[in-house]
Amino acid sequence: METRILKIDAPDDEKIKLVGEILREGGLAAIPTETVYGLAGNALRGECAKRIFEAKGRPSDNPLIVHISSFDEWAPLVKEIPETAKALADAFWPGPLTIILPKSDLVPDEVSGKLPTVAVRMPGNEIARAIIDSAGVPLAAPSANLSGKPSPTSAKHVIDDMNGKIDVIVDSGECTVGVESTVISLAVNPPRLLRPGGITPEMLTSVLGEIEIDDAVFNKLPEGAEAASPGMKYKHYAPAAQVVLIKSSLTEFVGYVEKNKSDGTVALCFEGEEKGLTVPCLTYGRKNDPSSQAKQIFDALRRLDEIKAEKVFARLPEKDGVGLAVFNRLIRAAGFNVIEL
Ligand code: AMP
Ligand code: MG
Repeated sequence: METRILKIDAPDDEKIKLVGEILREGGLAAIPTETVYGLAGNALRGECAKRIFEAKGRPSDNPLIVHISSFDEWAPLVKEIPETAKALADAFWPGPLTIILPKSDLVPDEVSGKLPTVAVRMPGNEIARAIIDSAGVPLAAPSANLSGKPSPTSAKHVIDDMNGKIDVIVDSGECTVGVESTVISLAVNPPRLLRPGGITPEMLTSVLGEIEIDDAVFNKLPEGAEAASPGMKYKHYAPAAQVVLIKSSLTEFVGYVEKNKSDGTVALCFEGEEKGLTVPCLTYGRKNDPSSQAKQIFDALRRLDEIKAEKVFARLPEKDGVGLAVFNRLIRAAGFNVIEL
């Protein structure tokens, strides 16, 4: 099929009506959000979710996040909104936080991956909210990448993966956060962080008090274990190259790469650390600036494929603040392969 590419830079752009119409009629549109580009379809129609899974090549037991543009759209999707959920939404919506609660019958099984719960988020990006408004229905929207590939943070990434597979791609520049939303489940007690993102554990505890961090945030799930968040069990964010994370000082990192390099070796480091390395280097942000790392990590992972990297030695990010999200994505890209020097 032919995919229309629409450049939209403001929430009052006339073209938003057209995107809304396509979505309302059951079409698929890649839309910008502050986290990553989403592949959106009508969240109240099971067959739209099926088309999303098909376009992504995503296993259909991996549930989709439902995106809303106003608080009123939330209540019909869930059994009830407890005080804790309301407090979280008041603090962080619109923004990069997804809240899981027991679902109502309005949410099709295809969207929830047959789980009894639904994940809901109100994106901070104004163009995203204007598109949801224009569609007049909540939108199911996973990241707009082919399953397994790094999430898209620019329209170019989406075009590379989705051109010819969906009705429209909205190009609205680069995503400001750069990693997917924080996912917290309030369907369990205490609340459980399933995926770290732009809203940090410290920000969550400031509202909720105690939270638990799911083991799958840090570690590989044991063979056959059931994932609290089904997305955690799939190989994710991975470039074609073999990625190895190196936990060490910069000097040790440079020494290790120089000693172990071969044809096709690439170093993935922080800005300004390229000196002393004789292999090609890509960077992802500044060492003590996790927000800059989050913004650049997926682009860097995609570039590794473009330059045909075969083996990648990568600097390990700190786990502070949004750095935990960067760590979580990189460790999956590396298939949990970490060497401590
Ligand atoms: P993406 O749509 O690519 O941002 O991924 C959504 C993530 O949220 C995946 O890891 C899903 O497994 C997770 N998720 C969505 N809905 C639920 C739910 N009801 N329960 C647990 N995890 C969920
Ligand atoms: Mg994804």
